[in-house]
Amino acid sequence: MSKVNLNSLTIDFDDSAPVVAPSPRPSSAGTPEVHQGPDLCFMSLGSGSSGNSAYLGTRDSGIIIDAGINPKTALPELARNGITPEKIVGILLTHDHQDHVRYIFAWLRALRHAQVFCTPRLMSGMLRKHSVQRRIKDYQRPIYKEMPFKVAGMEITAFDTSHDASDNMGFSIETNHGRFVVTTDTGVITERAAHYMRGANFLMIECDYDDVLLEHSHYTEMLKDRIRGPRGHLKNEDAARFVASIYSRQLTHVFLCHLSRDNNSPELAVEVMTNALCACRTPLRQFALVHPVTPLLPSSKAKKID
Ligand SMILES: [Zn+2]
Ligand SMILES: [Zn+2]
Repeated sequence: MSKVNLNSLTIDFDDSAPVVAPSPRPSSAGTPEVHQGPDLCFMSLGSGSSGNSAYLGTRDSGIIIDAGINPKTALPELARNGITPEKIVGILLTHDHQDHVRYIFAWLRALRHAQVFCTPRLMSGMLRKHSVQRRIKDYQRPIYKEMPFKVAGMEITAFDTSHDASDNMGFSIETNHGRFVVTTDTGVITERAAHYMRGANFLMIECDYDDVLLEHSHYTEMLKDRIRGPRGHLKNEDAARFVASIYSRQLTHVFLCHLSRDNNSPELAVEVMTNALCACRTPLRQFALVHPVTPLLPSSKAKKID
């Protein structure tokens, strides 16, 4: 058996299964872990309504996906894993909600050389709704959905998701080690999202809430309706059913992200996904939770699916 750590949790898997990057690397307890193959590295810096950011790339260069985590805490964690600031060449934004863009200017100020990749609509929404300095436009590299662009040696395509921000998208990222697809903050899985996720080797998918917990939560009915709506968030069951429906041998890693702190738990999300995947007897190498609240405290779960 080999061991891989994700945000301080250990995943065991069978060495006889086919090997696809990222390859295992031990970590010290209590710190987030970079997943790496010969080249590919993935690191969640935070996930959930309190803030979202992740690193994807190689040990030489890469990108940050979303700017909802303070670089003051994220950059030292990245540096501890060999990712120094000059290696981060771009920041991608999925949409302009606070938990995804709150620290965008702080990131750009800390990195200086990096560009922010987002659609013009997302940039306008961010400037309109948040107190982001207009100088951010100097760093913008405009992108458009379904039009691939290259950064850090990866070819990236933004695709439409269904959410209630100014503009909403996921990313299909072609790396030297396969396709990494990010789909978060989406009430339903759009046709384009399904298209890209079907070809994924690595999938990061939202598992925001559990139906029963949301129903009995202290949230107002209006907020519950917003979350459950087609432009809200994805629930555990829908994410699990979808992943089971698109499963193929090329899909080797699934990361569950954006868990609600109030209306979900790591145990529930893992259980629902486990049941759906076991039902279709997937030989998935790993699936794991991207930490639901903060990456700096170990409380996420990971399991092997046989
Ligand atoms: Zn969000
Ligand atoms: Zn959102």
